[in-house]
Amino acid sequence: MAANLEKPVYLEEKLDEIRQSGRLDYRSKSLPTWCPGCGYFSMTEGVVDALNSLGLDRKDTVVVSGIGCASRFPFFVDTYGFHTLHGRTLPVATGIKVANEALTVVAVGGDGDGFAIGGGHVPHAARRNVDITYLLFDNGIYGLTKGQTSPTSALGFTTSTSPFRNYDQPLNPLMMLISYGASWVGQAYAGQPHHLAQMIQQAIEHRGFSYLHILSPCVTFDKTDKTYRNLTLAVRDLPEDHDPENRLAALAEAEKVDRPAMGLFYREARPTLGDALDDIVLKAGGKLESEEATAISA
Ligand code: SF4
Ligand code: MG
Repeated sequence: MAANLEKPVYLEEKLDEIRQSGRLDYRSKSLPTWCPGCGYFSMTEGVVDALNSLGLDRKDTVVVSGIGCASRFPFFVDTYGFHTLHGRTLPVATGIKVANEALTVVAVGGDGDGFAIGGGHVPHAARRNVDITYLLFDNGIYGLTKGQTSPTSALGFTTSTSPFRNYDQPLNPLMMLISYGASWVGQAYAGQPHHLAQMIQQAIEHRGFSYLHILSPCVTFDKTDKTYRNLTLAVRDLPEDHDPENRLAALAEAEKVDRPAMGLFYREARPTLGDALDDIVLKAGGKLESEEATAISA
């Protein structure tokens, strides 16, 4: 018994396993500054896990964010990163992808950044099917500015800007994104980190605009609504027979906000913005970059 106490075998083995997995290569030297217990720690692990599993080179990966607690993320991974202006994540991510189609572009943000000041950009990135991944961490509150009502705060939620209650109907981002034309829409929960990592990987693998809605508790400023306790009791899996090619079925599942479903709601294969731009280049008599490279080397 005493020997076990002197030698914490499990911890050493675990650390060794993490070192050998290659996952630490994707972590920067900056340690996350989020509050202990914040759902965003699962984001870091999930993205690092997905990039490592997909074998994506750090030099071919760009993480883009706006403003908010979630938007600190590019500092904590050792890929290329772009911490942009408030709400401008998707236009910048679109520009990066258009400039270099070979890059894997992951946009990250919260509900305030994405659906208040940045809300006008979301439908256009979705309908154009820009080949990027958008990870939206929804805690239903503005955490960075110390707890104000956000576009996804629940009715009746009390914050410093709604001290009597929130009277505004919350947005339903899943229904919005399915309607906007996102070609991959899924949902995960920071309290289920393994499933979250799998969903992030699937979202990155999808060719086209992938939107992953992630329920993520703000443990500091929300003690009553989107807490780990409440969310863990509320979440469920999508029905086994859910057909992700059926848009109406996806909308029907997305409407059940009291019992949020985890998994892939909707998926379709269609040309991306990059395909459209290639088509324009060819119709205008130009050559695609890949053809030019062949012509130069021939
Ligand atoms: Fe996370 Fe909330 Fe702390 Fe921001 S304020 S780091 S969202 S727990
Ligand atoms: Mg938020």
